Amino acid sequence: MAFDINTKILTVTDGQSLSAAATLAADVIRHGGLAVFPTETVYGLGADGTNAEAAQKIYAAKGRPSDNPLIIHIYDPKDAEPYSVTCSLYYALAEAFMPGPLTVIMPKKDTVPYSTTGGLDTVAVRCPSHPVAREIIKQAGVPVAAPSANLSGKPSPTAARHCIDDLAGRVDVIIDGGECDIGLESTIVKIDVDDGGEDYLTLLRPGAVTCDALRCVCPRVDIARAVSEQLAQDEKPLSPGMKYKHYAPRAPLVLLDGDGESILAFLQKRQSECRCAILCYDEEIPHLENKRLLPVGPRDDMKTQAHLLFSNLRLADSTDAEIIYAHLPPHTGLGLALYNRMIRAAAHTVLRLEK
Ligand code: AMP
Ligand code: MG
Repeated sequence: MAFDINTKILTVTDGQSLSAAATLAADVIRHGGLAVFPTETVYGLGADGTNAEAAQKIYAAKGRPSDNPLIIHIYDPKDAEPYSVTCSLYYALAEAFMPGPLTVIMPKKDTVPYSTTGGLDTVAVRCPSHPVAREIIKQAGVPVAAPSANLSGKPSPTAARHCIDDLAGRVDVIIDGGECDIGLESTIVKIDVDDGGEDYLTLLRPGAVTCDALRCVCPRVDIARAVSEQLAQDEKPLSPGMKYKHYAPRAPLVLLDGDGESILAFLQKRQSECRCAILCYDEEIPHLENKRLLPVGPRDDMKTQAHLLFSNLRLADSTDAEIIYAHLPPHTGLGLALYNRMIRAAAHTVLRLEK
C-alpha cells in the first residue's frame, strides 16, 4: 500500500488551539480517517471504533497484525454501555480510576466490529484523562479505537516528534500536545467470573494503575504469566499483544541486576572496552564517562524512569552503540510496568552481578 497522505500537523498551546485541533481531529475520525493525539499514557492513533474499515486503516498505517485488538476510548465511563456488557466491578473501577490510565476488558456488544477487537468477543475500554484526547472523543461522538501511534515494532511514542517520524504520510492529522505525562501504556485488566459467581480481575498489562491500587477495589487480582515471564513458544497469552515481538533496540539491550557498587564497576569497565550506551541513574552520571549516557532519572524515582523509558530507547538507537545496558527494575508498584516493558525489549537478557 502506498502511504502518501498529506498529514496535517497542529500544535496545541492554549484553549483556543486545543479547541481548533480537537474539531479537526474529531471531523477526521467521524469521516473514517486517522488522527494522532496525545493521551496521559502515550500518543494514540485514533479512528472510529464502530467503523470496520476505519479500524482496518489503523492496522495498515501501523503495520500491525490484524488479530492484535484495539482499545476503544470513551468520554465518560457510562459511555461503555452501548459497546460492552458492563457490571458493578466495572463501575467500581471507573469510580476509582477513570478518567485515567486503566483499560478494562469486558464482553463486547454487536455495535463493535470484529476488526476493532481482532476477532475477539471481548472489547477493551478506556476513558483517558488528557484534555486533548477528551475533547476529541467528546466532539467525535463515537468510541475512538486507538492503539499507540508508532509503527509496529517501534517503542510507543511519548512525544509528537516520535509520531511524525513513524507515521507522517500515513495518517490525516497529528496533534502535538507536548510530552505524555506517564510515558507507559495503560494498565489492562480483564473482568472474569469465578466458580462462585464473584467477579475478579486478571492483570494483562501493568501500567500506572498498580496492582496494589487495583486490590483496594477488587480483592482478587491475578497476574497473567506473560506480564513478567517468558511464555513457551506454543503458549497462548490472554492478551494477544503479548505474543508479538515487542520493541527491541538495534543493539542488544542487557539488563543488570545486583548491588549498586558492582553494577557501577561493571559499567566503568565496559565503557573502556566497548561502545556501550547506558540508561543510567542520575546519581551514576558523575562516576561514568560522558559517552552515550542516557539518564533515566533518580534511582528511586520510578515515575521519571517510566516517563523517559521509550524516548531513551529511541535515543539509544540513534547512537553508534554496539550494546545497551540498563538497570533491571523492581517488580513492585510502578516498577512492574517498567519491568514488563524492559524485559521484553531485552528479550529477557539479564546479567546478575555480585561482589
Ligand atoms: P496498544 O493499544 O497498542 O497499547 O495495544 C492494546 C493492547 O490491548 C493489545 O495489544 C492487546 O494486548 C490488548 N487488548 C485489547 N483488546 C483486548 C481484548 N479484547 N482482550 C485481550 N487483550 C486486549
Ligand atoms: Mg502499542
